[in-house]
Amino acid sequence: MPGRDGRMNDAEYSAVISQLDKNWTEVRACPIFGGNNWLVHPYVTVAANYTGSSGQYVGTSFPVVIVYCGDCGYSVQFLATLLGLYVVGGEVQSG
Ligand SMILES: [Zn+2]
Repeated sequence: MPGRDGRMNDAEYSAVISQLDKNWTEVRACPIFGGNNWLVHPYVTVAANYTGSSGQYVGTSFPVVIVYCGDCGYSVQFLATLLGLYVVGGEVQSG
């Protein structure tokens, strides 16, 4: 399980990279830069549902792993649950 700050340990980080390698079978060229220098952010972050004009983000949220281009910063998010990390009782655990 990532630490309280969301950082993945080495085993979790390696498992995420393995899962990405397994699933990402198409061309990996960055759509902005054209290179292939993808990096995995070591922290699980949270995407939250937008709740309207209040400007506040409350309610449902879900953990994501950010993968970004090391050349230009273009980034994509993957659901942590589909990368071998999952949520049980409100905490992210590896699985
Ligand atoms: Zn790029």
